[in-house]
Amino acid sequence: MKTSLDHRAARGLKKLAALLLLLPLLCACGCALVDGASGLSRYQASYLDVFDTATILTVYAPDEAQADAWLEETHALLLQYHRLYDIYNSYDGLSNARTVNENAGVAPVRADTALVELVLYAKDMYALTGGRMNIALGSVLSIWHEYREAGLENPDGAQLPPMEALEEAARHADIEDVVVDEAAGTIYLADPKMSLDLGAIAKGYAAQKVANEMEKRGVSSMLLSVGGNVVAIGARTDGKDWKVEVQSPYGGEALYLLNVNGLSVVTSGSYQRYYTVDGARYHHIIDPATLMPALYYDSVTVLSADSSLADALSTALFCLPPEESQALATRAGVDVLWVATDGAQTMTEGFRAKLTN
Ligand code: AMP
Ligand code: MG
Repeated sequence: MKTSLDHRAARGLKKLAALLLLLPLLCACGCALVDGASGLSRYQASYLDVFDTATILTVYAPDEAQADAWLEETHALLLQYHRLYDIYNSYDGLSNARTVNENAGVAPVRADTALVELVLYAKDMYALTGGRMNIALGSVLSIWHEYREAGLENPDGAQLPPMEALEEAARHADIEDVVVDEAAGTIYLADPKMSLDLGAIAKGYAAQKVANEMEKRGVSSMLLSVGGNVVAIGARTDGKDWKVEVQSPYGGEALYLLNVNGLSVVTSGSYQRYYTVDGARYHHIIDPATLMPALYYDSVTVLSADSSLADALSTALFCLPPEESQALATRAGVDVLWVATDGAQTMTEGFRAKLTN
């Protein structure tokens, strides 16, 4: 029998194959496009072992040795965050999110600062989003995950989770039961039936931290795409902005190409992970108000200087009806493209200003 990890890896590989088909003009690491003005060359590498998705890194560097070093350092940092925020796997000698979940109702877990800080940030995001983005929803999300994996494994037998089971799980999702002791560096889930799910926020948070670190190490021009969660360090060295695609939730050609300079672009979409029951699709972004896949949009794309904020908000905005979603975007100071489930598009003025087409 295939494990759920096999499924995720297989989907990641499919995504990477599709992405690589889109990149005939770009170079793989090892060959370079030289930019005359800056003397820097463009290098690229892709990976499949970070956050169960395809990661593509593009960097401008003075030579291949420097590019290799920067790409490897970036990859290694992303892997560290991936392991720390992983709720599915344990790693020797590492207290990660899974360790915290395993100790729910048992004991506080001493964790790396990067996990403690993410949990504190997620609690702030819970407050900002009125609970629409809730990392304490793991008990509910794990039921959906289980039914989705079973349904993908055996499409004919695909089923919806029973509402009673979801409602019972939702009684164990109170963010106040996520207890952080900053001084002790511990995280404790005070409800034994609670679990964390960091999927809504971990990639953006990690990508931003890694981008900040690589900038400190001397990188002035880099694009990190972690499963479509994009962060740009600076612009390209030819003086032009990075060009970042916004995928159509319906497949085919990209909806837009954005001019991006020192910005992050993050999309939450119903097309990214779903399964089918009796001909209807059920996706992975769960509205805490209904415990069912949120029904308002097919995709929500957020632009922000901070990828952590963009990621947290992409999920929360996806779970709110249009007026409330727009009000939250304004309050949080981000630019957004909403694609409603009838295909209608709404975008903020700041988002429109970034369109190349
Ligand atoms: P994203 O693609 O950033 O919107 O994140 C989606 C992932 O976040 C899902 O696969 C779940 O792991 C998790 N998730 C789904 N719904 C929520 C929610 N309302 N609050 C927090 N996490 C969620
Ligand atoms: Mg998100």
